[in-house]
Amino acid sequence: MQREKDDMRTARPCPICGKPASFAERPFCSRHCAEIDLHRWLSDAYRVPGEVAPSDEAESAPPKPGQK
Ligand SMILES: [Zn+2]
Repeated sequence: MQREKDDMRTARPCPICGKPASFAERPFCSRHCAEIDLHRWLSDAYRVPGEVAPSDEAESAPPKPGQK
């Protein structure tokens, strides 16, 4: 099939395991690998150095006594 051949050409390998990506789950080969990548994003693995996560420390910190 021409259509299938074209999909193979445009498909990129799964960034997690290197297998040919699934059209439905691209760029991953499966939902499993997509979830693995998601967890990597949620973990420190993909955290950008220097980018500080929003913290409520500044807002929750009470004003120092005697400071105007
Ligand atoms: Zn994969």
